[in-house]
Amino acid sequence: MSVSTYFDTMDYGPAPESDKDARAWLASHEASFGHFIGGRFTLPGAQLDDLEPATGKLLAHLTQGSAADVDAAVQAAQAALAPWQALGGHGRARHLYALARSVQRHARLLAVLESIDNGKPVRESRDVDVPLVARHFYHYAGWAQLQEREFPGMAPVGVVGQIVPWNFPLLMLAWKIAPALALGNTVVLKPAESTSLTALLFAELAQQAGLPAGVLNIVTGDGRTGTAIVDHPGIHKIAFTGSTEVGRQIRERTAGSGKSLTLELGGKSPFIVFEDADIDAAVEGVVDAIWFNQGQVCCAGSRLLVQEGIHDRFIARLKARMDKLKVGAPLDKCSDMGALISPVQLERVRSLVQQGLREGAQCHQVALDVPAGGCFYPPTLLTGVHPAATVATEEIFGPVLVAMSFRTPDEAVQLANNSRYGLAASIWSETIGLALGVAPQLKAGVVWINSTNQFDAAVGFGGYRESGYGREGGREGCYEYLKPIASKERPARSARTPAHGDATATTSAQGGAIDRTAKLYVGGKQVRPDGEASMPTYAAHGARLDDVGLGNRKDIRNAVAAAVKASAWSNATPHRRAQGLYYIAENLSARADEFAHRIALTTGVSAAQASAEVEASIRRLFCYGAWADKFEGAVHQPPMRGVALAMPEAIGVVGVVCPAEQPLLALVSLVAPLVAVGNRVVVVPSQQAPLVATDLYQVFDTSDLPDGVINIVTGHSAELLPVLADHDEIDALWVRGPADFSVTAERLSIGNLKRCFVDYGQAIDWLDDVQGEGPHYLRQATQLKNIWIPYGE
Ligand code: NAD
Ligand code: MN
Repeated sequence: MSVSTYFDTMDYGPAPESDKDARAWLASHEASFGHFIGGRFTLPGAQLDDLEPATGKLLAHLTQGSAADVDAAVQAAQAALAPWQALGGHGRARHLYALARSVQRHARLLAVLESIDNGKPVRESRDVDVPLVARHFYHYAGWAQLQEREFPGMAPVGVVGQIVPWNFPLLMLAWKIAPALALGNTVVLKPAESTSLTALLFAELAQQAGLPAGVLNIVTGDGRTGTAIVDHPGIHKIAFTGSTEVGRQIRERTAGSGKSLTLELGGKSPFIVFEDADIDAAVEGVVDAIWFNQGQVCCAGSRLLVQEGIHDRFIARLKARMDKLKVGAPLDKCSDMGALISPVQLERVRSLVQQGLREGAQCHQVALDVPAGGCFYPPTLLTGVHPAATVATEEIFGPVLVAMSFRTPDEAVQLANNSRYGLAASIWSETIGLALGVAPQLKAGVVWINSTNQFDAAVGFGGYRESGYGREGGREGCYEYLKPIASKERPARSARTPAHGDATATTSAQGGAIDRTAKLYVGGKQVRPDGEASMPTYAAHGARLDDVGLGNRKDIRNAVAAAVKASAWSNATPHRRAQGLYYIAENLSARADEFAHRIALTTGVSAAQASAEVEASIRRLFCYGAWADKFEGAVHQPPMRGVALAMPEAIGVVGVVCPAEQPLLALVSLVAPLVAVGNRVVVVPSQQAPLVATDLYQVFDTSDLPDGVINIVTGHSAELLPVLADHDEIDALWVRGPADFSVTAERLSIGNLKRCFVDYGQAIDWLDDVQGEGPHYLRQATQLKNIWIPYGE
């Protein structure tokens, strides 16, 4: 036998990682676990069976957390809150540092236990999951150290409820608890019911590392336990990672509760290969994109888009590469893929692939030679997939890649964005201009150029659209666990008392009133309301003033259409946007007296107060004109040869409902930050003093804002708000007013998971520069996209 034939036939032998220590740890707990509350384990309830995905064998008994268990955990977290905050940033930094060290010391045990419990190959848990966990604690130890200096005026939110999924059990725990603890919050965390073991081991290690009791509490259980956390009134914030469906339920349940919420949900991320890509590198990228962690990755590159000219060649090479992938025992260091999490997930993947075949796709799969009894599924490629097919639109959350082709870069962008989701994207091209030109056009929170599935604690991660909101990692991850101190002690807004009873509609048929009716402002034009109806307005002392248009559902739709059309504003240069705001300020200034008079007349404030409101509005416009080209991103240096650019981008079309009070200043304070960073808005002005807003039309007309950037629909706020909340082309909702407005906004915005920025009915002093303006507003007006750009060849 020649050496070359020997090489050809040589196969890898098994290289099992020892599970001795992990099994010994399980045995030390008799494989039965309670919750970890207030620094100790509770007695095991043994209601839940945790199975080993690779063998189907029983691994451990877990306890189903009841509402009482959750309550005990919340109480422990509340008790621990003040002393934890009293430690200060440096004190907490030392604890986080100790956690990082402990993870590193127990890296092998954690990795093996993770692989046994979850089914992922130990090569991944050892080389990816656990090192990233340690890195996260180091990184946030640093933010704790810098907290007082870097986040003045901000306080921790308090007790945080965190719910994580099963795909990266320990890593998601780290992403959640490291920032929360670093910044002075205490935590009640629920791991997924199928993968709770590393969380429990971590809690034990944390206690050994001296973390004070009650700072971190782990309650195990299924979705019902999750619901008890979501509903608990002692919790100030919910941070969730998991399915979009459960994310929606949580948004609905927490609506109006004042709990802040971050959602890291599903995805159907595009993997775009252009003709000039390094094909071998891109094929290897596909392997990392979709077969990493058996494809059970929220940001998996699960939609392969290949440019037509190389499509067939690319698919051929990909199939050849696929056939070399090894699926097998998770603890075998040679396994590229392990087992799926559960029989349920296996069945789901199977049936989705069947669905794909029924819808006309061709299937290529790797032949399996795997241990019996495990949830193994082969690497799978579906070609000939229609962009509207189920497998092209639904998140499969398994090792299944669907492939499509495109002709031009524009078509690639269109296909890539043809999804409800917007978590991540990969772009493969050797032409830097092409790759960097496509990246900003993609609706995705993370874009990897010539790379994929890269993560680092310093680089933010999170979605656009129905992939959720909020960011984990880096500085932006800190803001999710902080709140402005100014928001702490604000009184409730005084009850809504329309000055003159409910304004009732009049129609043009009723006399000549329509002549004195201020119209709506849509697409840069004054337009009559769709219903031809108007509503009367009154001076503060009761005299009837001009009518304004009574906008309805159709008017909102028209306004949204105009705002959607004005998308060029999002790509206008920051300088251009600044000019737009300065120009409005200048024109408002020229008519300051007229506006002051109108404000005094309609709200009843003194002439001096009215003038002060106009002056403050002009200042605020200048303020956001100033910010327009200064609210910038960052350049991260992740551990690779390259950079990651954190770019704030406009969210899109934003619905704005203004409060009754300070009709000019409140409107300006809400609209200016949005417009400054490139959003287009549909505004419902103060119902009590709408004439101040309709007077602005002329100011807008003489400024040089493009048509459709600011649209104004007057009418009944309570009727127009649900229309805004329900509209799928509105991407975010800013609402100020009575408390029930916030409830409505949050509850009805779940369709496309709009980001809501509401006030829960708390009064705002719009004249106050801390409450009424600043980076807080700009962060709400933007979403960060992190673009990873590797260097070198
Ligand atoms: P899931 O959303 O049901 O579970 C995630 C976590 O939420 C778990 O801890 C679960 O116990 C908890 N939970 C379930 N119902 C809850 C409720 N009503 N209230 C509060 N918490 C609740 O996800 P899953 O069932 O584990 O997986 C289903 C699908 O979700 C997958 O097929 C995949 O598409 C998606 N998924 C996404 C991610 C991600 O990282 N984005 C992770 C896991 C699963
Ligand atoms: Mn398990």
